Formats: sequence, structure tokens, C-alpha cells
Amino acid sequence: MLDKIVIANRGEIALRILRACKELDIKTVAVHSQADRDLMHVRLADEAVCIGPNSSAESYLNIPSLISAAEVTDSMAIHPGYGFLAENADFAEQVENSGFVFVGPTANVIRLMGDKVSAIKAMKKAGVPTVPGSDGPLTEDNDRTLRIAREIGYPVIIKASAGGGGRGMRVAHTEAALLSSIHVTKTESKAAFGDDTVYLEKYLENPRHVEVQVLADGQGNAIHLYDRDCSMQRRHQKVLEEAPAPNIDKDARGAVLQSCVDACIEIGYRGAGTFEFLYENGGFYFIEMNTRVQVEHPVTEMVTGVDIVKEQLKIASGQPLTLRQEDIKLNGHAFECRINAEDPKTFMPCPGLVDYYHAPGGIGVRVDSHLYSGYKVPPYYDSLIAKLITHGEDRKSALIRMKNALDEAVIGGISTNIPLQQTIVRDANFIEGGLNIHYLEKKLGL
Ligand code: ADP
Repeated sequence: MLDKIVIANRGEIALRILRACKELDIKTVAVHSQADRDLMHVRLADEAVCIGPNSSAESYLNIPSLISAAEVTDSMAIHPGYGFLAENADFAEQVENSGFVFVGPTANVIRLMGDKVSAIKAMKKAGVPTVPGSDGPLTEDNDRTLRIAREIGYPVIIKASAGGGGRGMRVAHTEAALLSSIHVTKTESKAAFGDDTVYLEKYLENPRHVEVQVLADGQGNAIHLYDRDCSMQRRHQKVLEEAPAPNIDKDARGAVLQSCVDACIEIGYRGAGTFEFLYENGGFYFIEMNTRVQVEHPVTEMVTGVDIVKEQLKIASGQPLTLRQEDIKLNGHAFECRINAEDPKTFMPCPGLVDYYHAPGGIGVRVDSHLYSGYKVPPYYDSLIAKLITHGEDRKSALIRMKNALDEAVIGGISTNIPLQQTIVRDANFIEGGLNIHYLEKKLGL
């Protein structure tokens, strides 16, 4: 087992990783920006290193500082968490070239899955269902492009191969709009990502977002931990997630789960990962793979009993997976509400002093949060301050627990989106389950 690791992240996920390390007897090094000296996990870690000033670019995204922190503390590995450098292949490569273990897949696999065109190609080869599309980059040949779009059928979506975070995408509803939209997407992509490769996909009008959690050891063993539904989104940002995804066609689901396991073996995947799909009319369509632990991983942990972060650390230690697919049984249902420090109406970030904090509790309630009374939420980073997770024997009981937990929670001194979450869990259509990715924005009238 690894004996000491650097946690190259902040907030709730840094604390989550620290807790897993403590259970596995791994020593921890917290690295933090100047603004983050008071983070909960910094106090609980065995060692702490300040890696730079407040801005992420100079701290959590500063590769030389992170590698030096591993060197000066004589650590063995770096866990990137999510966001920041978690899906940066160059970082993974530099970590490993410096003699440390990167808790995640190899740099080559991150690179393969980070480029959408190569990711889709690899997925098709492995038998994962993809969105009907151009099967590769568009060329200068406009006649060819128009022919492909006609075959796919309008509307189509133009996507930048290097795109991410919801950027580098544009929908074309008609042939008249297609070529100019391609031109704009290429120009934007070149400016934002330094690459103007674009491709076409069928634009699915009312899909759900359903994703599959996997674990693989890079030694020929892979399993899935079933699926999650993350369709409650605003501006492509997930707001509330659940596991398993409700009301899914049984056969399509069995096939897609197996295809994700096959794909892990095929690409030599190592670590925890997520295959993201759009789900429409009973069909799954791969959109991308996240090669890291995800914010919403706890809902899967609640229904499978598997500690995903501990599994990541065991895999990074070189241990083969000991879990077998037949060991993974679904138990009940779980929800996660992301609690953000933001205005519930305008969605503007609301950093500041948390003068009072009361976490909800009771059976089936889990709170993953770095908050405490007197903590000051800094304005420099993501506004996620807590994840409220509930589990129940079925969807209905997990949802009642979430309603109660939201009503119990008190975060004083700053505004949060708890009122928005309270509205969602009381919504009759949401209670029914299986809504598409546009529902929340439509409901909010945005
Ligand atoms: P990113 O890497 O920027 O997150 P994704 O490929 O994951 O990009 O797509 C982000 C979001 O864009 C999806 O969650 C979905 O809402 C929308 N989207 C992407 N591809 C399609 C498509 N073919 N049809 C409809 N919506 C799509």
C-alpha cells in the first residue's frame, strides 16, 4: 500500500480523500493556497504545504509546485481529486516521470479519452453505443460535410474534439446554418483549446443524462458499479443526482453496463472512471468518459456499499481488484443534492463567513462537506460547499429523507441553493422520475 500521498485538491473532495487515506493507514499531505489555510482537511492532514497564492493558476494548477510538495514531503503518490488537474494528461505524465504514482489512469489513456474524436473511435471499437455522427473530424470538403449532415438528419450538433466543460458546441437546425456554424465553432475552439478539429453528431432533443461508474485495475480486471442519473442540470452543471437511474429499459441497461466493462479492458483503463451517456427513447449514446472520481460518486457508494476512493487508492498501490462483478449488488436508492454558496435566484456566487452551521443527520443521511461554524468561503474557487446525500430502501424513502435533510440543514451567514433543492424534491414530475436534461431550466423559466 502507498504510505504517504499528496492530496492535490481542496474543499469537500480533499476531505473525502483524507478520510479514505486514514482508513487505509496512508499518511496525508494537504497542499493549499494562501486563501485556504483554514480548510478542514488542512487541520486533519499529517502535513500541510502552502503551494502558492490565492489564484488557482498559481496554486492548484501549478504543476511544479505540486511536484515539489511531493518531493519535500517524501510522498509516494498524488491524488488529483476532480477538477483542477485531474484530467490533465501532461500532469499525470510529469507526476509519473518524477517518480510518483498518479492516482488515476495512465497519461496515454487520459489523452485518448480527452480528445473526443479519438474517444468515440475507441468506444465504437469496444462496442459502446455512440451518437450517430461523422465518425471522425470534418474536412475542408464542404460537399462531404453537407452530405454527412443530411445522412445524420437535422438538427445536428457541431462539437470541438478538444472541447470540454460544455464549451465548443453549437447546434445547427438547418443546412443553411451548418457551414457558418462550423466556421464559428472552429474559430472558437482554436482560440480556447488551440485545436480546431470539429465533428458532427445527431442532436438529441430531449435526452436524459445517465452515466456508468467503473473500476478497473489496469491488470485485466474491470467491473461496473451500475448507473447514475444526472439529468437535473443548469447550464450543463449538475445540480442533483441519483443512483440507480430510474425507469431505464432493462435490456438496454444490461448491454450498456457490459459494454463499459469491455471498453475498460480494451483501452487498458486503470482506476475509477465514468462513461457518460445521453439516454433517449430506450437507447444509450456515449458522449464522453471522465477519467477521475466524480462529484456524484457518493450516490453509487450508498447503493453498492463500495468505497470508490479507497478502491482508487488500492488500485494506485498496484493491487488487483478484489471485488468481482457478482459481489456488486444494488441496495435501495440514493440522492445527492449539491449545496452551493450562491444566490438561489440569480445563481451569483455568495462567498463569505459561515457564522452558523448545523448539518442534518439521522438514518440514511450523509453529508460530505468541509464546512464548520466560523469557516469563511473564499471567493476564488468553485462554489460547492457541501453534498447532501440520502439513502433509502427505495426511491421514495430516499427522497423523503432528502426532503427532511434539506429542511434540517442550516448554513448561516451566506446564501445557498438549498431553497432551489427544496423546490426540486417537491416537484411532482421529479417525484415521478426520469426527467430530461432540459427540465430544470424550463421549470426555472431560464
Ligand atoms: P463537455 O466535455 O463540454 O462536458 P459533452 O460532450 O459531455 O461536453 O456534452 C456536454 C452536454 O452537451 C451534454 O451533457 C448534453 O447536455 C449536451 N450534448 C452533447 N452532445 C449532445 C448531442 N449529441 N445531443 C444533444 N445534446 C448533446
